[in-house]
Amino acid sequence: MSDKPVNENRRDAVKRMLGAALAIPVINLVGVGSANAQAAVPADAVAANDPTAVALKYSEDATKADRANAVGPGKPREGLPAAEQKCSNCQLLVPGADTPDWQGCTLFPGKLVSVNGWCVSWTVKPA
Ligand code: SF4
Repeated sequence: MSDKPVNENRRDAVKRMLGAALAIPVINLVGVGSANAQAAVPADAVAANDPTAVALKYSEDATKADRANAVGPGKPREGLPAAEQKCSNCQLLVPGADTPDWQGCTLFPGKLVSVNGWCVSWTVKPA
């Protein structure tokens, strides 16, 4: 019986183990990246299917909201051009939360809205 097949088998086994050992940190990095991306949205953020959010056509991304037709066809809310309207310049925003990109809103008690969001109740913040 020769040593060669055993050595080759051992070599193959070591290669497989090294490959697996190198893959684990890569998998972990991918997992951490996903967790960080998800952590950007706080747990108490207004959910897309929240009944008030649906009724007010709230979107956490104002660019995806129908700001140009808020009051009627071709009629945006008054105060700023539709493309500039977002929660951060809305009078109803309630600042003070620890999350700079997510703040309170008078219309969503106990929850947070994105400062880059928008809803049909948007009202220009006085200068
Ligand atoms: S009322 Fe103002 S701050 Fe609240 S969700 Fe609507 S646009 Fe944003």
